[in-house]
Amino acid sequence: MRDVVVVGAGPAGIHAAFLLAQAGLDVVLCEAQSRIGERAICSGVVGDEAFARFDLPKRPILADVRCIQAISPGGRTLEHCTEAPLAQVIDKGEFNRALAERAIAAGVDVQLGCCVNSLGVEKHSVAINFQSAEAGPARLRAQVAIITTGVNGSLSRALGLARPRQFLRALQTELTLPPNGHGTATRVYVGQDVAPGAFAWDIPLGNGKRRVGLMTEQNPEPYFTKLLQRIAPHTDLATLRIDRKGIAQAPVGRAVGERVVAAGEAAGHIKTTTGGGIYYGMLSAELVAEVVTRAFRTRSFSSQTLGEFERYWRSAFGNELMVGYFARKLAGHFTDRQIDGFFEVVRATDLLVRLNGRLKFDWHHRALLATLRALLTLPGGIGTS
Ligand SMILES: Cc1cc2nc3c(=O)[nH]c(=O)nc-3n(C[C@H](O)[C@H](O)[C@H](O)COP(=O)(O)OP(=O)(O)OC[C@H]3O[C@@H](n4cnc5c(N)ncnc54)[C@H](O)[C@@H]3O)c2cc1C
Repeated sequence: MRDVVVVGAGPAGIHAAFLLAQAGLDVVLCEAQSRIGERAICSGVVGDEAFARFDLPKRPILADVRCIQAISPGGRTLEHCTEAPLAQVIDKGEFNRALAERAIAAGVDVQLGCCVNSLGVEKHSVAINFQSAEAGPARLRAQVAIITTGVNGSLSRALGLARPRQFLRALQTELTLPPNGHGTATRVYVGQDVAPGAFAWDIPLGNGKRRVGLMTEQNPEPYFTKLLQRIAPHTDLATLRIDRKGIAQAPVGRAVGERVVAAGEAAGHIKTTTGGGIYYGMLSAELVAEVVTRAFRTRSFSSQTLGEFERYWRSAFGNELMVGYFARKLAGHFTDRQIDGFFEVVRATDLLVRLNGRLKFDWHHRALLATLRALLTLPGGIGTS
């Protein structure tokens, strides 16, 4: 009988396991892949606040982001640049491995090639049924299980817990390209013809390398082909390694039951504006670890005790997720002409400068509400120019 089994070694699972082991609990971390960070498909942009807050390892950093340019369908540009880095671009596989090293040093028992098929909640424990790469079907028992399986919601679904039901579909590749005259700015492209309902990105990694991708609610393939023709017209698409993955899109309802709780992207804890899940995943991990540690103190693993997690995350970042979700949904209904109009208005009113204090890499809801307020007070409104 173990204290806690954490299922899924992404940033959320590894961080939760680390904090629980630091609190003195006996923690097993089960990861389906044979190596931590394998197939960690991600653009790897992590805000500086996350590095400070979670004392993140610097080893996986590839480049920093000091300038972000957004490009409208008609080619209008908005730019936000700062002296100090806004964010870092990481190698996500290396990042997960560095997090796992510190978790192992804190006492976490990491089981690789451990694909959990089901969780069975019983009166005095939870049974974790898994397929082990070495030993075949096997079973563990623990007082509590934490589900951090990312976008894969099958374990939550089987237990009747809420799980992500809305997804964006993302495609990404890495290219080596000659300088494009945009320096080291990270570029974000929007428009109904670019990535309906979301956006495309072009992130310099240094040494001519760039991470190029997009996410959308629709079939992303034709948009990705168009994006590559625009950014890298001479690239032979057939030779590229293109990664595909879904991104959860909305905070889910109650993802807590007797002895089980879901956190990170598995609970929809992901930035709903941009699809960034590392910061909120780790924040979610911090909160779930606090609730589970408290549950061990009182020896109560009821859904009511673990349900405190629900209250914690809603108060920490519930507003962010909801406002971001509705803002992105609303923006997804803008026509290209309205998007161009929006860029025009933001430039003409110097809105980015006026929002400056409220523009934070990981916290968007105040800037979004201020933007909405500013737009509502404009004579004429968006898209009428
Ligand atoms: C193309 C793309 C670009 C992105 N760019 C960014 C970005 O720039 N910045 C950012 O912050 N976020 C980004 N994200 C999102 C981010 O990668 C995820 O939200 C984040 O990794 C979620 O962390 P997590 O720990 O909740 O889940 P994950 O990182 O998905 O980890 C889940 C783990 O669980 C394991 N697992 C799943 N099922 C089982 C099972 N049954 N048994 C055992 N193990 C299992 C998986 O193998 C995996 O290792 C991007 C996502 C995509 C797809």
